[in-house]
Amino acid sequence: MTKQTNKRSCSFCGRPEREVPLLITGLNGYICSDCVQAAQEIVNQQFGVGERGKARGLDFEMKDLPKPAEIKAYLDQYVIGQDDAKRQLCVSVYNHYKRLMQEVEDDGVEIEKSNIIMVGSTGTGKTLLARTIAKLLKVPFTIVDATVLTEAGYVGEDVESILSRLLQVADYDLEAAERGIVFIDEVDKIARKSDNPSITRDVSGEGVQQGLLKLLEGSMVNVPPKGGRKHPDQDYIHVNTRNILFICGGAFDGIEKKIAQRMNTHVVGYNSVQNVRHLDKGNLMRYVLPQDLKSFGLIPEIIGRLPVLTYLNPLDRTALRNILTEPKNSLVKQQIKLFAMDNVKLEFDEDALEYMVDKAVEYKLGARGLRSIMESVMKDLQFEVPSSKKRSIVITKDYARQQLEKSMLGEAVEG
Ligand code: ADP
Repeated sequence: MTKQTNKRSCSFCGRPEREVPLLITGLNGYICSDCVQAAQEIVNQQFGVGERGKARGLDFEMKDLPKPAEIKAYLDQYVIGQDDAKRQLCVSVYNHYKRLMQEVEDDGVEIEKSNIIMVGSTGTGKTLLARTIAKLLKVPFTIVDATVLTEAGYVGEDVESILSRLLQVADYDLEAAERGIVFIDEVDKIARKSDNPSITRDVSGEGVQQGLLKLLEGSMVNVPPKGGRKHPDQDYIHVNTRNILFICGGAFDGIEKKIAQRMNTHVVGYNSVQNVRHLDKGNLMRYVLPQDLKSFGLIPEIIGRLPVLTYLNPLDRTALRNILTEPKNSLVKQQIKLFAMDNVKLEFDEDALEYMVDKAVEYKLGARGLRSIMESVMKDLQFEVPSSKKRSIVITKDYARQQLEKSMLGEAVEG
C-alpha cells in the first residue's frame, strides 16, 4: 500500500486531493471540481435552468420567443393570403420552441411534436411560407425535395440524406441539428401509385414513405458524415429525430376528386343537402381530411405522424395582383430596385400590372407565371437601359403586351 501523504479526498468520487483539479472544503467533507461539474449537469437535466434555453444550446429565452401572432405578422409582409396555413404554421413553430424549452416536471406532461402537412396547388406559396419562416427562426432549417428520395440501395438519395443536410446547415453541431426544422417539398410524389398495397414493390413510393416514417416518428438514425453515401467502414453520426419538426408540402394534384368522392358518399339526407349548399365547390381543397391523403396514396402511418393538416388556397386574380406589388420583396419592387441601381426611375402603369395578372390567369401559371411574365416584359429594357441616357421609364399596358407577344410566352408556357 502506498503511503498516503495527503488525507483530504473528494467525498463523492473518493479521489485524493492531488488527483483532482480543485478540492472544495465543506462542513463535513470535500467535493472535487469534476464532481461539481457532473452534479451541475444532473441538475440541468432534472430541472432545466430556469426559463433559459441555454442549457440545451438554445440562445434565446421564453420571453424572447416570437408569439404566433408576431410570426404571422412577419409572414404577412412576404406572403399574400393563406391565412389558415399561416396560423397553423405559426402555432406549430411556436409550440416547437416551447417543446425545446420544456422542463421535465413531476406532472409527467410532455409536449409532443406536431409535424405539419400543407396541401395546395403548385405555386400557391408553400415553399415561400417555409422559406420565410426560416428567416425568422433561430434553429437550423432545411428544405428537401421528396422526389430525389429513393429507398436505400437504389439510385437517388436515401432518406438519411435529409438529416445530412440538416447537419450541414447546423455546421455539424449535432445538438443544434437535433432541434431543427425540415421542410419536405413534393411529398405527394412519393404517394403509392396504386391503391392496392399488395402490388409489387414500389421503389419510388411506399418504400420511401417507410423510410420517412422512421424519421418522422423520432428515432436514432445513422447518418453518413458529410452527406456521403453509406460505406461499411464509415463512422456514422447518430442523429435523434425526436425533436426535429417536419413540415411537408405537396400539390396533391387530383385530391379534389377524392375529397368530392368522400363528401358525396358521406353526404346523404336532408341535413347534408343543406350543408352541401355552403360548400365552396371551387376550392374543395379546404375540406381536405387525413383520409383523403390515404386515398391519394400516403400510408396511414405517415399520415398519423403528420397530425397538423392544413391547406393553401388557389390564388385568385386579386391575390395575384397583390403578389405583384404588396410583398416586401415583390416582383415590382425588385424591378424598381434593379433600375434604381442604374439611377433610373421605373414605374408601372396600373393597367400594365392588370394586364400581366390577366396573362398569368390565362396561362394558368399562378404566381409562378407572374415572374416569367415580368421577366419577358422587362428583358429588353434590362439590356438597353444601363447604357442609355434614360432616367425614367414607365411601363404601359401597350409596351407590356408588345414585349410579351414578342417573347411568345403564350406559346412556350413553362411550368
Ligand atoms: P409552391 O411551393 O406552393 O409550389 P412557391 O412557394 O414556390 O409555391 O411559389 C412560387 C413563387 O410564387 C414564389 O417564389 C413567390 O414569388 C410566388 N408566390 C406564390 N404564392 C405566393 C403568395 N401567397 N404570396 C406571395 N408570393 C407568392
